[in-house]
Amino acid sequence: MTKKSREISLARAETLKSRIGDYLEARKHIPSGRAQTDAIKQRKKHIMNVLNATEANWNDYKWQLKHRINDVNVLKDLISLDEEEIQAIKQIDELYRWSISPYYLSLIDPDDKFDPIKLLAVPNKLELENHHASLDPMNEEFTNPAGSVTRRYPDRLIINVTNECAMYCRHCQRRRNIGPEDVMAPRKVIQASIDYVKANPEIRDVLITGGDPLTLSDTQIEWIVSELHAINHVEMIRIGSRTLVTLPQRITDQLVNILKTYQPLYINTHFNHPMEVTEAAKEAADKLAGNGITLGNQAVLLNGINNDKFVMRKLNHELLRIRIKPYYLFHAKTVKGTHHLKTSIDDGLEIIEYLRGFTSGMAIPTYIVNAPGGKGKTPILPEYLIGRGPGYFKIRTWEGEVLTHENADTIPIEDLYKNMH
Ligand SMILES: *Cc1c(COP(=O)(O)O)cnc(C)c1O
Repeated sequence: MTKKSREISLARAETLKSRIGDYLEARKHIPSGRAQTDAIKQRKKHIMNVLNATEANWNDYKWQLKHRINDVNVLKDLISLDEEEIQAIKQIDELYRWSISPYYLSLIDPDDKFDPIKLLAVPNKLELENHHASLDPMNEEFTNPAGSVTRRYPDRLIINVTNECAMYCRHCQRRRNIGPEDVMAPRKVIQASIDYVKANPEIRDVLITGGDPLTLSDTQIEWIVSELHAINHVEMIRIGSRTLVTLPQRITDQLVNILKTYQPLYINTHFNHPMEVTEAAKEAADKLAGNGITLGNQAVLLNGINNDKFVMRKLNHELLRIRIKPYYLFHAKTVKGTHHLKTSIDDGLEIIEYLRGFTSGMAIPTYIVNAPGGKGKTPILPEYLIGRGPGYFKIRTWEGEVLTHENADTIPIEDLYKNMH
């Protein structure tokens, strides 16, 4: 290395350092679950006192599920709510289901009226504002060829196995399926879905979803997963579950022992905010990843929760630290009662713009807008290809530099060989 090239490299390193100063500053003010372990512990203690629970109760997912909070009179003793909020929750109670695991409640900063976890879990009076929007923007009703299957793609489909969740997300796009009670799809409906997969050999990828499939018993889960695994043309199984976020106690050794038998098996989960990435979530992720189950994250872009380029960067970093790969960032759909959580597409584009180049490619999910009428997931990217002509492409780099890249036609290998002298 010449003295000159070292000087150029040092100057470039200085420029690169200047590209990250704003994030390093911003990230100090973004709370994350693992940095807030002590505060979470304090709140857990308080919740355990009110609910009269032992440590063993707390760590038992069945206790957590059974003691989900869905009564505003209990909730108001656990986090602070003003009278207006209490009245709104009572009204929403009649329209949309809500229910929060004690664990997930312990992530809420009780004194912050706009706490992101609170916005994700506690009914908000803004839900009452737009009851005219559709309950089924994806037209799932018209993509149901058998049982509880949703089929929208040539080689893969979804089987919906329950409407139950450990916590009912305020932005849920499947609100219409979340009735007042927990219902597992009847065994014969699930059987009909499995039979549909059997009868259609082009289906190589089956997603088990809900609700949250991991609210089912180990026996039920093993039945569904083993049946699918036994089908020759099913090459992989995916489970969509938010339990890593809302009920990490569900990831028991026994469950992991079942799941790891039916490889290749992938779990896609749904973290939306770095505050959700706690020590308990890490433990659950470690168990799964440590047993060869690959983990991905499907976040939803939500107003006031994560529509911020630095919050999203931190979320994706926190996820990679616990071996979860950011997979999708979904643009929120217009679903009745969730309008307040929707963002502009511009917010999503800005986030992606400030990930690419600025941080590990591993930390960049694909931003997806669902085409109207359930016409499929559509990726949206900032423009990097800004022009083209004969023999060239005009591209823009992550730092905004515009460059011309040559673009020669591909010559088949055989022709290159023939023409060699
Ligand atoms: C999202 C979805 C899938 C999976 O899509 P991938 O892009 O493969 O993750 C499959 N079927 C339906 C109906 C879906 O909505």
